[in-house]
Amino acid sequence: MNPLENIRIVLVDPKTGGNIGSICRVMMNMGITDLAIVTPREDLDWEEARKLAYHAEGLLEQRKIFQTLEEAVAECTVVAGTSARTGMYRDHGGLPREIAPAIIDSAAHHKAALVFGREDKGLFNEELAICTHIINIPSSDLYRSLNLSHAVMVCCYELFLVAGGPSYAPPRERSSEASGEMRQRLYEDWSQMMLETGFCEPEKLEHMMLGLRRIFGRGKLTDNDVKILLGIARQTRWVTRQWKKLAG
Ligand code: SAH
Repeated sequence: MNPLENIRIVLVDPKTGGNIGSICRVMMNMGITDLAIVTPREDLDWEEARKLAYHAEGLLEQRKIFQTLEEAVAECTVVAGTSARTGMYRDHGGLPREIAPAIIDSAAHHKAALVFGREDKGLFNEELAICTHIINIPSSDLYRSLNLSHAVMVCCYELFLVAGGPSYAPPRERSSEASGEMRQRLYEDWSQMMLETGFCEPEKLEHMMLGLRRIFGRGKLTDNDVKILLGIARQTRWVTRQWKKLAG
């Protein structure tokens, strides 16, 4: 089973609908779909939540509501609380990427929860005491605490990476790497171009080619790259020949 399907995001007493909506979107982006809210306030702006959930409205509609944190995490084996602060109950915290492997390992077979606190007061000590792990996102001394939805993003992103990012494959170069033969043709055609255009004197050619080989050798050249460079040489040589004919 995909471990991300076993991850529950638990928001304790969130104050703004906007954050809840942004979190739905974050969760959807990172392939996590189980949202639980503990004691939502009467005056939450659900319309704002729906707007910001953009493309993740379904996830918002399927939210689960609990009256206590204990109930929200009752089924979960690993319960990772998050805190911007250190100190009592918070000193054994780790970075999201340090804790993510333990969460994903457990989530392969059991439900696991990530718990986030109120925008103004965070999680209370008694709530952190329920957690098996504490996550602390490093941030600047200028201002330690992240926006709630941003904190959710950082944590979910790390889980997504550890889980192998099921639908994510890093973009790859489509064209294959140019062969030695292709490169050789490139150097030959460019030598001719440099001579025929008068860019360099025959006795300087060897020196110039060393420089050119160094420049082209610095990066990876694909078949397509070499075709473009060969095309430039071909066209330049053709124009030079026409020009020489006209000039008599
Ligand atoms: N003054 C509160 C700030 C709460 S921010 C406090 O110090 O706890 C709202 C929630 O976002 C927090 O409860 C936590 O779940 C999450 N959060 C914000 N900044 C964080 C950080 N640097 N590391 C981990 N979680 C963070």
